[in-house]
Amino acid sequence: MAEHNRICSFEALLRWRHPERGLISPVEFIPIAEDTGLIVPIGAWVIREACTRASQWPNHVRVAVNVSPVQFHRGALHETILRALADSGLAPGRFEVEITESIFLEGSETTLKLLHSLRSLGVRIALDDFGTGYSSLSYLQSFPFDKLKIDRSFIQNLLTREGATAIVRAITELAHALNIETTAEGVEETAQLMELRAHGCSSVQGFLFAEPMSTADVERLFKEEGGVLQSVA
Ligand code: CA
Ligand code: CA
Repeated sequence: MAEHNRICSFEALLRWRHPERGLISPVEFIPIAEDTGLIVPIGAWVIREACTRASQWPNHVRVAVNVSPVQFHRGALHETILRALADSGLAPGRFEVEITESIFLEGSETTLKLLHSLRSLGVRIALDDFGTGYSSLSYLQSFPFDKLKIDRSFIQNLLTREGATAIVRAITELAHALNIETTAEGVEETAQLMELRAHGCSSVQGFLFAEPMSTADVERLFKEEGGVLQSVA
């Protein structure tokens, strides 16, 4: 969500509706999928599905997909994304890979090589949960990320803790200087939105505008509302 409440992107989130156990939280099944390596085929399916769906949306709307460290290093990600883009016809610039700093734990040289190979496809790379890791700033120097996603913990404390306000301001200023977009995560209140806009944050996401929705609801939104969300607060 950017200025004027225009939708600019959707983040793909996986949900598992089990026939007997009902809705199973990703917090439960993602770690198991990572341990067993099943995250690789599941992640590839998510990438294909996200590309196919997004190819039906208006041309200015992107889709962001979370990629886990296991999938990043062992998932033949370059080929998976290349094929998904080719099969769906989605323009590469409309596909955004969200990674966290933890992908660098495997060694920064191999990681950077992989990041550059993804970049060569023309897709965008976002650094997720920014500010929560140990050495975020050094990564900004080593790779030209397209976007920083400011972790929700800072947004939650934005109006109540001076420290959080200073951090958010520092991140947005730094990103601006480096020509990187920013997205604030977990925005729930109008006052937070105003504060973020004052700091020059380029886009926001959170319950203030919408709860997670099904792809059918996303399509309905474009058809019936013209792709504009009103804040619900
Ligand atoms: Ca994410
Ligand atoms: Ca996040």
